[in-house]
Amino acid sequence: KAVRDDYVLRNPKSSAQLAQAAKSMPGGNTRTVLYYDPFPLAMARGEGQHLFDVDGHRYVNFLGEYTAGIYGHTDPHIREAVQNALANGVNLSAHNTLESQLAAILCDRIPSWDMVRFTNSGTEANLVGIALAKAFTGRSKIMVFDGAYHGSVIAFAGGASPINVPHDYVVATYNDPQGARELIAQHKDDLAAVLIEPMLGASGCIPADKEFLQVLREETEKVGAVLIFDEVMTSRLSAGGRQALLGIMPDITTAGKYLGGGMSFGAVGGRADIMGLMDPGNPKGIPHPGTFNNNVITMAAGIAGLTKVYTADVAVALTKRGDRMRDGLNALAREKNVAVQFTGLGSLMNMHPAVEPVKTPQQALGCDGRLRDLFFFHLIEEGIYQARRGLVALMLPVQQEDIDHYLAASGRFFDRYGD
Ligand code: PLP
Repeated sequence: KAVRDDYVLRNPKSSAQLAQAAKSMPGGNTRTVLYYDPFPLAMARGEGQHLFDVDGHRYVNFLGEYTAGIYGHTDPHIREAVQNALANGVNLSAHNTLESQLAAILCDRIPSWDMVRFTNSGTEANLVGIALAKAFTGRSKIMVFDGAYHGSVIAFAGGASPINVPHDYVVATYNDPQGARELIAQHKDDLAAVLIEPMLGASGCIPADKEFLQVLREETEKVGAVLIFDEVMTSRLSAGGRQALLGIMPDITTAGKYLGGGMSFGAVGGRADIMGLMDPGNPKGIPHPGTFNNNVITMAAGIAGLTKVYTADVAVALTKRGDRMRDGLNALAREKNVAVQFTGLGSLMNMHPAVEPVKTPQQALGCDGRLRDLFFFHLIEEGIYQARRGLVALMLPVQQEDIDHYLAASGRFFDRYGD
């Protein structure tokens, strides 16, 4: 109650902003994930790694736009690319010269991509991936995993979403190779695809075990189903995503977020024989229109980001930096004897109030959410912004001193709530 009162008193303009927005948007909101009680902060602007809210507070942004914001708020290369694209005119109503450049760069980076199609979001990329798998196999069932999030209309985090597209889903248990093996065998004649996040993102940064992904690779191959990795979040873990780190090749990979330079973006790519279904010259091809699929602003920002900023070496360094931060936080929690752990991989992590290693979304859901909430509000007071649910996605401009501050702020929280 006191924490809530502090928050309300400290942020009157954010509160007023929500009330104003509620006149024309349901609950004042257009992105459910950003809402939290009593009201979310409204940001006025961003610069580098910093956010400034409408009440004038400054925060280090540790949320990084749910992984899309890897470049920070004002990267000069991204800005220059977007300004050049604007100068050359938008809405060209035609093929342009940027889309093929970005496609070639991405196909060089992501091992499983012979070819790629662009979309406007990760959600759309997954919708297209599923459509491709169904068309390619002539089958109807899609295996997904309890706790998975593949976008606003393909979500199984905390149960299936009421607005999910009505595919014929088979819902399996994450990190349970034997269960998946049995389900794949059971549905083998109807199974079009197995769709999986190599690390559950929305359910709390829970990595898939390598062996689990290997089993999915082997079993889908056996029954002729398409294996789809949703690397919308994990593509940042190396230039080639988690698949490159593990050496496991899916048939299709979906991506999005930062790969479009922080602009609206999604992409679906994979084996040439599957992607060939989208060749407009293919009489059996399936259509995939989309006004903004090749919009010059995203294309230009994506190219600049990947060639000038998030190069392969930088990806390795960011992943290492994240690993060190997570290790540091876990060591601190142990030292202070608090029942808290930070899961994740590389620059992606999530706090869970639990001692036992969190390997399933059920374990994450079973944690006492109150401690996570208190941590969130504590960090706000410390000038640190992250997801209410505990997600951290490091951005490149976040400095070592910012990370040291996060550790120190966490230490103060652990002192307050530890043994
Ligand atoms: N897939 C995963 C793993 C995601 O984390 C997300 C978004 O958070 C999506 C798909 C959906 O992407 P978008 O929000 O761009 O539609």
